[in-house]
Amino acid sequence: MTESTLTLPSGDWPELMPGWVWLCGAGPGDPGLLTLHAVHALRQADVIVYDALVAPVILEWARPEAEKIYAGKRGGKPSAKQADISLRLVDLARAGKRVLRLKGGDPFVFGRGGEEAQTLIQHGVPVRIIPGISAGIGGLAYAGIPVTHRDVNQSVTFVTGHDQRGETPDSLDWEALSRASGVLVIYMGMKHAPAIRKGLLEAGKRSMDEPVAIVTQATTPEQKVLETTLGTMLDDIAATKMEPPAIICVGRNVLMRQVLDWQALMRGEAPRNLDPLGRGKPAEDR
Ligand code: SAH
Repeated sequence: MTESTLTLPSGDWPELMPGWVWLCGAGPGDPGLLTLHAVHALRQADVIVYDALVAPVILEWARPEAEKIYAGKRGGKPSAKQADISLRLVDLARAGKRVLRLKGGDPFVFGRGGEEAQTLIQHGVPVRIIPGISAGIGGLAYAGIPVTHRDVNQSVTFVTGHDQRGETPDSLDWEALSRASGVLVIYMGMKHAPAIRKGLLEAGKRSMDEPVAIVTQATTPEQKVLETTLGTMLDDIAATKMEPPAIICVGRNVLMRQVLDWQALMRGEAPRNLDPLGRGKPAEDR
């Protein structure tokens, strides 16, 4: 994508100034889900510090001379410590660079963006925060799963499947979580899927039939979606060889995919079930 093919609407676009860090969400993968502020930042930055979950295609929007620094924690490359990343950003800003810190999804959703911004501000570095589309909302939407539905849930709970040490989320009160929301959206849950499943079943609010969806590499060409249940999810994950990054969604909203799998519709498939929640009438009649 070049300047000529996408012109920002006229307006007062902020300038990424030397010595500043913009902490910016890159969305879940599809570059079309970047914000205009993110595109604008990519076109200005001298240095881009990016995470593993930032789709490589997005970096193509950077200036050719921009330095690109990988600060990811997966992908077989050496992992960077959080404190090191934050201090690196401080150093780059102090060196007078225009720094873009690009993180997958939204920087403030399970992405330690809050910690990075805090460190920057503690060191007197000026920051701007640019939100992004979080995988737990946008990724599910690409799978045809709405995170809320009038007939299912009045609230939605976003959960991390890792605690601070990357261990099983024992600290999570699965019973309280189950009671609070009809829908749980679990980030970083694949590694601990057995513990999560056990916690949810033991909490008692959900049966083996509870619908579960697992979406990997959401919004990218490699997106895979598994529709399963609490009862069968572990076998199904194994059978389909699903790998992180994945969003796990637990709740009856998942059934809506039977009608809303818009990517299947685009491929010419028919909707599997026009009324998966058994509402009875077309929605506009109610
Ligand atoms: N800040 C990010 C989340 C970072 S935590 C956001 O707002 O989306 C990393 C976790 O996010 C992954 O383990 C996975 O659970 C989820 N995730 C991020 N991108 C994803 C994608 N494209 N598909 C599925 N899950 C994704």
